[in-house]
Parts: sequence; structure tokens; C-alpha cells
Amino acid sequence: MYRFAPSPTGDMHIGNLRAAIFNYICSLKEKSDFILRIEDTDTERNIKGKEKEIIEILSRFGIKPAHIYIQSENLKFHRELATKLLIDKKAFACFCSEDELEAKKEKAKNDGAPYRYDGTCERLSNEEVLNNDKPFVIRMKKPQSTMSFTDAIKGELSFEPDAIDSFVIMRADKTPTYNFACAVDDMLEGVTFVIRGEDHVSNTPKQDLIRQGLGYTQKMQYAHLPIILNEDGKKMSKRDDASSVKWMLESGFMPEAIANYLVLLGNKTPVEIFTLDEAAKWFDISKISRSPAKFDLNMLKHVNREHIKIASDERLKELGLDKPNLARFYTQEASLIPEIKEKIAKIYSPKVAPNEYKNEFEIIKSAILSLKPCESYDEFKNELIKATSLKGKSFFMPLRMLLTGELKGPELSELYPLIKDDLKEIVK
Ligand code: GLU
Repeated sequence: MYRFAPSPTGDMHIGNLRAAIFNYICSLKEKSDFILRIEDTDTERNIKGKEKEIIEILSRFGIKPAHIYIQSENLKFHRELATKLLIDKKAFACFCSEDELEAKKEKAKNDGAPYRYDGTCERLSNEEVLNNDKPFVIRMKKPQSTMSFTDAIKGELSFEPDAIDSFVIMRADKTPTYNFACAVDDMLEGVTFVIRGEDHVSNTPKQDLIRQGLGYTQKMQYAHLPIILNEDGKKMSKRDDASSVKWMLESGFMPEAIANYLVLLGNKTPVEIFTLDEAAKWFDISKISRSPAKFDLNMLKHVNREHIKIASDERLKELGLDKPNLARFYTQEASLIPEIKEKIAKIYSPKVAPNEYKNEFEIIKSAILSLKPCESYDEFKNELIKATSLKGKSFFMPLRMLLTGELKGPELSELYPLIKDDLKEIVK
């Protein structure tokens, strides 16, 4: 069972979408389920409406979760299982105040040593705990030995107990931390494989430790995805437009193309252009490169053009491209849906005569309006030359303007078959 577990705290980043897509493709390949879990337990950072947006974005990419879970609805299980860990002495109540902890962190900093929780509250007796009425958090006891796991991309990774430390699993307000809610929910929801960004590598042994503490024995498999760099080689941040999935969709990239491109990133694939269903036949998460992938907008544009070329008429119409053949043809001139729409709209809009060719423009226009239908461009051109006695630039420039609304553009002989039935409408 695979899952995607976004937090509804901001616009979806392409790194998140990439994780969603990889999880989804793997679930198709393994004929296993894919679920969506909205991780909304950090109430201060939640943004209203984001979960709806996440679901909508996934559906535009054709990603259909078998089930949608809302993490906060599991709160009773988080509380119950944290209590179980306390009773079983896998976790302990910690009464240290923020100020006390801050002072210890400051001291560690001055001593040049990494800060670790010093175990003060782990040593409290049952009476001392029960008679204490100060607010408390619950901490997991740090492991007694090295913890390791095999990452499908990074290989074997090991963590010393000190690096894991006695970390907080329940806050003083009785809400779970990310690591606890995530570990418990993955267990309760039957997740067996976690694919997520590499910023979570250090959380993984903590989540394994929690499940071990709860007596859960099902082994979790992991793949942590390298970060995506922008074109300057820096980590792609919110300041990079292309990091936002919304920006990409609003700019006019097709979801099919974005998905295809994200599968190509840092990967060796048997073909360059594919659908997610096709990718599910050969996708192998262990083939993803260990080094960061570099985002390349030109490559994405290329993939977008290729997807416009292979899309069905219905799909192109859905995207507002009412003239599918012209849309495919204009991929030689433009990459984004709005740019292509504009080119086609220009063909069908009233034209203004270019200053240098005002007379020729009118002459050719009336010639076209009274011309018999011509099958081929050559026939059309020859008939027009015969009727107007124009030639060279003073023929082709106004003709191009009449047919396309521009003075530069594609080969008219290639364009002609696509517009020949609409000539009278176009030349107005
Ligand atoms: N809510 C976490 C995030 O969006 C989930 C990470 C995970 O997949 O475990 O980063």
C-alpha cells in the first residue's frame, strides 16, 4: 500500500507532486492501493481550503486515491497509543519547561557540543510523575542501539541513538507531532512503502522506532527522493515560479506533460514521452538518481509540445484548443497552451493591413473572397497570383498577414490544408 501525505499548509510544490506521482505509479505497477492522507495536525500552519485544492490538483493529474484520510480525525488513536507507549515505558512524560530546555541548548552551543535531551524526566519515579501538575509533553525514549533501514534509492542508512534522541511525540496541548501522527497513521492505514522527499530521511528511524515501540512488526520500505535544483543549481524554493504546481498549470503546461517531465527528472527511462499508465509498466524507483535533479524549463516545454501533439481531439478541446489540428501544428511555434490559443485566435480575428502593403492586402483579400475552392496550396497560390498579378514580398507578406494575422510564422504550404475550409471566415 502506497500513500501521499501532504500538509495543507501552502501551494503544492513540484517536489510533493513528484512524490505523489511516484507513489501512484508504483501502486499501479504493484496493483496495490494508493491512499491520500491530509496531514492537518499542525493547526497553526494549516491554510483553509488547501486540502480541497490538493484533491483537485491530484485529480487533474489523473491520480485517484482509493481512500482519503484526514489525519486530525485519528486524534483519539494518537492519544490512546501515546498512552500505551507511556504505560509500556517506551515513552515518558517530560515536564521540562521551554525556558529550561532553551538554557540547556544555549549551554550546549557555548560548549560547542550538539544539544541532546539530557534525560532529566526519564529518571522520574511514577510518584514524581503522578504528583506533578505542570504541563508536560511525551517523549519517546531514545533507542539503545543503532537503527538502520534500506532506502530503495540511497541504500543502507544507519542512525546512532544520539542522532535520534528522546524526541517529542505529543505536545503539551495533547496533539501529536508530525513524526508520531505519521508513524501511527502509516501503521493503522496499512502502508507498506513510503516514497517521499529526502528532507524526511532523519524522521524515518524515529517513525520506525515508534512503530517498534507499539509492537508493530510489518516492515516498512522506503525511498527518499533527492531534492530538485533550480536552473541556477540552487534548491528550488517558493521563490522559483516553476516550483509551484499551480503556476505550472496556470502557465499552460498540460498535466500529462508535467507528470511525464517529473518522471523523467533524475531518471533513465526507456522512452521520453509517455502517460502515467505506460510508465507504470516499466517504472523502477530504485533507478532514480541519488544526486539532485536539475529542473529544466526548456525540456518541460519540449515535453509539453509532444503531449499536445499526441493528445486526442477531445482532450485538446477540453483544454480550450477548439481547433485540434491547428493546435498540434502550432507546437512548432509555441509551447504553452495560451500561446497556441493566441496564435489560432489571430488566424480567426479581423486583420489589419501592414502599412507597406495596404493596397496589395486589399487586392489579395478580395481575390481570396471570390476564389473557387482550391485543394492544394500550390493551386491556391497560382490562382491568386493569376488574379492579382502580384509577386515576391508584396504578394507573400500581405497574404501571410491575411491568413495568420502575423508577418512571420510557419510555412504557408503546411498551414494551408488546415485552414482551407475556413478561408472566407479567416480573410475578413
Ligand atoms: N506532511 C509531510 C510533508 O508534507 C509528509 C511527509 C511524509 O510523506 O511522511 O512533508
